Amino acid sequence: MIQTMSISCRTDNRDLLERSLRAVWHPCSQMKHYENFPLVPMARGNGVWLHDYDGRRYLDAVSSWWVNLFGHCNPRINAAITDQLGRLEHVMLAGFTHEPVVQLSERLRGLAPEGLGHCFYASDGASATEIALKMSAHYWRAIGKPGKTQFISLENSYHGETLGALSVTDIALFRDAYGMLIRQQSTVPSPDWRKAAAQEKGEGESAEACALRCADALEQYLRLHHADLAAFIIEPLVQGAAGMAMYHPVYLQRARQLCDAYGVHLIADEIAVGMGRTGTMFACEQADISPDFLLISKGITGGYLPLSVVMTHDEIYRAFYADETSRGFLHSHSYTGNPLACRAALATLDIFIQDDVLASNRIKAAYLNQIATPLRDHHAVRNWRNTGMIWAFEVVSPHRDFAQRCFALALQNELLLRPIGSTVYFMPPYVIGNPEIELLVNGTFHIINQLS
Ligand SMILES: *Cc1c(COP(=O)(O)O)cnc(C)c1O
Repeated sequence: MIQTMSISCRTDNRDLLERSLRAVWHPCSQMKHYENFPLVPMARGNGVWLHDYDGRRYLDAVSSWWVNLFGHCNPRINAAITDQLGRLEHVMLAGFTHEPVVQLSERLRGLAPEGLGHCFYASDGASATEIALKMSAHYWRAIGKPGKTQFISLENSYHGETLGALSVTDIALFRDAYGMLIRQQSTVPSPDWRKAAAQEKGEGESAEACALRCADALEQYLRLHHADLAAFIIEPLVQGAAGMAMYHPVYLQRARQLCDAYGVHLIADEIAVGMGRTGTMFACEQADISPDFLLISKGITGGYLPLSVVMTHDEIYRAFYADETSRGFLHSHSYTGNPLACRAALATLDIFIQDDVLASNRIKAAYLNQIATPLRDHHAVRNWRNTGMIWAFEVVSPHRDFAQRCFALALQNELLLRPIGSTVYFMPPYVIGNPEIELLVNGTFHIINQLS
């Protein structure tokens, strides 16, 4: 303890930045770019704020890659983890069990759509995708349909970056470099509302009509290929990494009907959109559907510890229940069901109830929308959209490196924004207050003014 404190006292921004560039390989980065756009050393966090070593602060408007729900260093989550630390930090989950993982599984079953009775655990989102793909294909083999081994996803989908997850991810930047390593899967048209033709002029297709047209394309694909297909994996309501592409819930309803009709599993990847992000606990609720697999991660621990869950339909679980080991689901991770992470998740679920979070988020979202009119009407802003606690819009800018400039300029204005190409988005922690919402919206207006 004494040693760590003395380390943090000696450190300043520049020192940490230089040491990091010498020793750490940062994710999702061209390391050389850090020569021009330096890393931002962070010393501590508090609520929506991150603080560096030089006394500057940044409003975490992207919830630290979409994971944080109730702010940094939340006292209630801290207390739960600290309590668990004094009891049991970890035990393997094969052959053993513990109270936090049982409670979490029971509570998630109570919250999730109907029929998702069993929870399988891993440590990150990509692993949850891998698990669902393996379970789905294994299920079909177990019931005598071994030919069903293919998967489909939406155009521009993102389901993680391990090799299996990458095969159902359709973001060129992430996939092209590793194309030779993955088993290519097919995509079907995305119901992305932005594609609804000429909608700006009010003469185009409605979001609903666009969703129905794309559902017809899905049906055509399923009709031809269902015999080979194990599952259709989808990000419900919002395709995050695609640039917060939002779509009408009727697409999910049609997808559910079609997957039932053609005997294909529906995997709902709620890694980004679950845990209240779209306004309901799970995005699938807004289409009133229950998927065969529900993937949860990111916000589940409030952004504290790596944990992911694959919730599985009872019928699928039963197909694995047999005398032979080989019929079981043969998959494991060292930290499966880690008790500290489960306690963080339980504390997170408690906060949803204690603070009536979904209701209070509706009020916050309405306030943001109300004060955002000038930003929304800005001449450089296109496709303003909002679902729950996610906002996004495109910016028409003469700068080819708009995303990097916007990130840098935002930091100067106490904001942590991380555009995806020309798409600026807000995905703030749910503890954001009105003064901070004002700072976010007004600061962004100011930034867009300078970059357009
Ligand atoms: C982040 C994300 C993943 C991958 O999760 P990791 O923990 O980063 O592996 C998968 N699907 C969606 C929709 C995501 O947003």
